[in-house]
Amino acid sequence: MAQAKEPSFRQSVDLMFNRAVALMDLPPGLEEKIRVCNATYIVRFGVRLRGRIQTFVGYRSVHSEHMEPVKGGIRYAMGVNQDEVEALAALMTYKCALVEAPFGGSKGGLCLDPRQYDEHELELITRRFAYELAKRALIHPSQNVPAPDMGTSEREMAWIADQYSRMNTTDINARACVTGKPLHGGGIAGRVEATGRGVQYALREYFRHPEDVARSGLSGTLDGKRVIVQGFGNVGYHAAKFLSEEDGAKIIAIIERDGALVDEEGLDVEAVRNWVSTHGGVSGYPNATHVPEGDKLLEHECDILIPAAVEGVINLGNAARVKAPLIIEAANGPLTAGADEILREKGTVIIPDMYANAGGVTVSYFEWVKNLSHIRFGRMQRRQEEARHQLLVDELERLSADSGIGWSLSPGFKQKYLRGADELELVRSGLDDTMRAAYQAMREVWHGRDDVEDLRVAAYLVSIDRVAKSYQAKGL
Ligand code: GLU
Repeated sequence: MAQAKEPSFRQSVDLMFNRAVALMDLPPGLEEKIRVCNATYIVRFGVRLRGRIQTFVGYRSVHSEHMEPVKGGIRYAMGVNQDEVEALAALMTYKCALVEAPFGGSKGGLCLDPRQYDEHELELITRRFAYELAKRALIHPSQNVPAPDMGTSEREMAWIADQYSRMNTTDINARACVTGKPLHGGGIAGRVEATGRGVQYALREYFRHPEDVARSGLSGTLDGKRVIVQGFGNVGYHAAKFLSEEDGAKIIAIIERDGALVDEEGLDVEAVRNWVSTHGGVSGYPNATHVPEGDKLLEHECDILIPAAVEGVINLGNAARVKAPLIIEAANGPLTAGADEILREKGTVIIPDMYANAGGVTVSYFEWVKNLSHIRFGRMQRRQEEARHQLLVDELERLSADSGIGWSLSPGFKQKYLRGADELELVRSGLDDTMRAAYQAMREVWHGRDDVEDLRVAAYLVSIDRVAKSYQAKGL
């Protein structure tokens, strides 16, 4: 793990922020206003479990309210603490600004190991935590909208939404108090896959620019690229799945808590997923080499390294040995500020977290809009779009028959062209567009300014500038 001189996670985020802000010319005092976390609420509450009252410690931190509601996930993990939620809340501010999701940044967490509790117990704990936050407007459709993060999923979001609704029975927008809900509980198609899908779209966009690819010493497309994924939860799994199934990348290693699986020919991502869900880990998986010291694989030869678990996994202790020429931060803060510096000096290209993992909050934004508009995306247009396409196809076929040319549209084309987009397709299209636009914004700064060497600083410059403009517009 990290060595003594490593700064804390929040300090690490601040150091990265400072590196960027040094290149800006902000009005006096605004830099400090943006950097600091506005407020962190700490709650200790009791829940009667197994015959006694157990006390839990929860946090909700609000980093910036330049736009409201503020947004960010709720994490369930033993390591949750104030420093961590504040760092994560700050990253949410910059992330939302970069992908133009109209939110301020927030983050929450509960200090507990979810694997130690059964479903009923988790429901009691979650509802009580939600009650504590909701009564202080730290869960609220127009003020603070949580979402899943490590250790939480659709299930917890459904409990939170229901708890909020019970406390606000006349609020017609109650469902918009949280995102990442199950589809049948006010969720949106494509939210579960969204962060992993966003990682795929980010990499596709990067590989659309041969000049940028060359900076990492790589060339060509994603096809055949050797990828290592660290963390095989929701984000790591979906990223690995889409990159291998749709882009031809080879997942040569998957690193989990109980070791790593390695196969230079490429792992079968679905088979590993099935193994992990029945056995609780990667150990014993029959079709790959198991390396008990999984983190060693972070230093393995590969083209692309995807840290998709917790913060600080690449630190002063191992950064110098990391060989990947391209790292995409699917987790929040997987590189410490020190590691970031070592790797930049080596010429490693780092696609930063605030961009790389923004797929989740982007689709959360779509879900929130869907909840507020009370209608599924595509419901009004879909059949009308199909009817118009049908008109065109009919007309082309009539012209062809009348003129005696005799060509016809292929059945494959017709089938694809005639079908109107459903919600999932619209969500993916919106996410793809968002990831492309955010990359373009970073890229303009990366290539356009001589004093900007890396994508992280470019991302911060874009985000901080947007946050600053929004403060200035308010007259602050
Ligand atoms: N927890 C996710 C993140 O770190 C999603 C946040 C959201 O959807 O609000 O970005």
